[in-house]
Amino acid sequence: MTGQPQAGASTAPAWIEAQQIEAQQRDGRDPLSAFASGFATDGAVHLNGNSLGPPRAGLAGELERVVHGQWAPHQVHGWFKDGWLDLPRTVGDKLAAVLGAAPGQVVVAGETTSTTLFNALVAACRLREDRPVLLIEAASFPTDLYIAGSVARLLGRRVVTASAEDFDSFLRENGAQVAAAVAAPVDFRTGERRGIGPTTALCHAAGAIAVWDLSHATGVLPVDLDAHAVDLAVGCGYKYLGGGPGAPAFLYVPFRLQQAVDFPLSGWHGHARPFAMAPAFEPDSGIGRGRTGTPPLLSLVALGHALDPLLEVGVHALYSRSQDLSEFFLECLERSRPDVLEQLVSPRDPDRRGGHLALRLPDAERIEEALAARGVLVDSRPPDLIRFAFAPLYVTHEQVRRAVHELGDVVKEAR
Ligand SMILES: *Cc1c(COP(=O)(O)O)cnc(C)c1O
Repeated sequence: MTGQPQAGASTAPAWIEAQQIEAQQRDGRDPLSAFASGFATDGAVHLNGNSLGPPRAGLAGELERVVHGQWAPHQVHGWFKDGWLDLPRTVGDKLAAVLGAAPGQVVVAGETTSTTLFNALVAACRLREDRPVLLIEAASFPTDLYIAGSVARLLGRRVVTASAEDFDSFLRENGAQVAAAVAAPVDFRTGERRGIGPTTALCHAAGAIAVWDLSHATGVLPVDLDAHAVDLAVGCGYKYLGGGPGAPAFLYVPFRLQQAVDFPLSGWHGHARPFAMAPAFEPDSGIGRGRTGTPPLLSLVALGHALDPLLEVGVHALYSRSQDLSEFFLECLERSRPDVLEQLVSPRDPDRRGGHLALRLPDAERIEEALAARGVLVDSRPPDLIRFAFAPLYVTHEQVRRAVHELGDVVKEAR
């Protein structure tokens, strides 16, 4: 690559051509590039997989198979005959591989992340009846803050919100007061990582329950839940997992806590024998106690289908591909618009971030719209952040190059 263009003069054809060749070579070298054609992207560049990614091309066929091959002919018998009743567990076992968990510890009950977090936080507090504090990061996704506040009101506890820097020191200094500590391995705004291992170890040293919200990490970052001895974890099904609009959330409960947790949402599907129709609740002895009621079957089918290529590739290869893509984004931006790169709020070190990057640009929402009109889907978060997510299986280096090019143009127009 020769010749550094001036800022705002990124349209020199020779230079663009060189970058195109570079992108093609990188895609050509990486066998994971072949997966992109298996997604129904409609020609758009999807850099918002941390909000919602495209469906796999085969999804409609899979749903049709269930609707016409199971639902229509078997009707209510499908719950038993076609394995529908077990799907929260079978999809959970698939997900366990992505989460670094042995099978039998993950369930997809059919709830939202919000209700699943509610269930987990109340259960965590019930494991520590004598402790007054529910600790949560101040920069958490809003629903986590709202749910933590509600759980504290319900159970007579107190929420302590700590900045990312103060979180661990609070655990060190006041950990004996903490019933449960809630954190995320990836900051949903900046993409900055928090190590699951060290914070979980601090919780354990203090006797607190470590609860992780993995929504922005699952499917793009290894989380190694068993190895880190995480206590409880929840996460979203529609982000990097690609489960589709409103895909259900998951819940992780390790074997060592399954007999002890007492979930507040004690619905009939969490019963040891749901079809005995017993008047008294007796929880399932395993991960099944995390279930609530009749699960949204078609959404579970879609989530299970979305997981297949992730399992085929494996989470470590997914992570490394995502890092390659985000590094290429930064390289392209450095060459074409170093002034825009200066607005990066994510860590420059790839090992310190998750699957997305954020830039602080005034007019973020307008830039998002302008990019969408050019076929580049990103998302803005008020007041001035634009996020670019590098989902490993449907984003290519060539698309990243194109996105940076369009971004340069759109930002130029905005000024
Ligand atoms: C996306 C996300 C959620 C979403 O919650 P829902 O109830 O499923 O809408 C929750 N927490 C975090 C950290 C998220 O990133």
